[in-house]
Amino acid sequence: MCNIIVLKGDITVYPADIIVNAANSSLLGGGGVDGAIHRKGGAAILDECQKIRARQGGCYAGNAVITTAGLLPAKYVIHAVGPRWNDGTKGEAELLQQTYQRCLHLAVEHNARSMSFPNISTGTYQFPKELAAQIASDTIFAFFEDNQSIETINIVCYEQDNYDIYQAIIKRREI
Ligand code: ADP
Repeated sequence: MCNIIVLKGDITVYPADIIVNAANSSLLGGGGVDGAIHRKGGAAILDECQKIRARQGGCYAGNAVITTAGLLPAKYVIHAVGPRWNDGTKGEAELLQQTYQRCLHLAVEHNARSMSFPNISTGTYQFPKELAAQIASDTIFAFFEDNQSIETINIVCYEQDNYDIYQAIIKRREI
């Protein structure tokens, strides 16, 4: 049985086996949650991202790579590249679902018991928040119908509106 917990604030302060980063294709860091993770995690994370880049040339939308967590309270960081919202007709929904699935599979492969997700694509990439939350929660719940090795998933919402949206979704599921 997996616990899904909705938290508020900065993802870098919550201990978990894996912290997911909303990265971009360059894997070289950026603003938002990406900036916070690299700042708090230290140089070891960027160092590994650069090695991955040298090997595979970055990471496309819908995919993710895994590195050390550096100084963060975690074993690994998964750098997930969500889709940039365009007009909804460019496969954005499928790509966001694929991004969450890829993170969950990588976490299982690395024997994670707990992991934290930020609200991927809902910042700079401008994915509509309600739709993103619905896709994220549907994907996570569907995944746990077949796989119970992860015990706790934190959904860490930095913004109050995302927090409210997830609280409402979780409440509906519990009814
Ligand atoms: P993207 O490019 O995927 O949209 P962003 O980092 O711009 O990535 O935003 C993704 C989400 O992460 C947004 O909801 C944003 O408010 C949130 N966010 C920003 N900083 C943090 C943080 N320190 N911890 C958790 N979430 C954060």
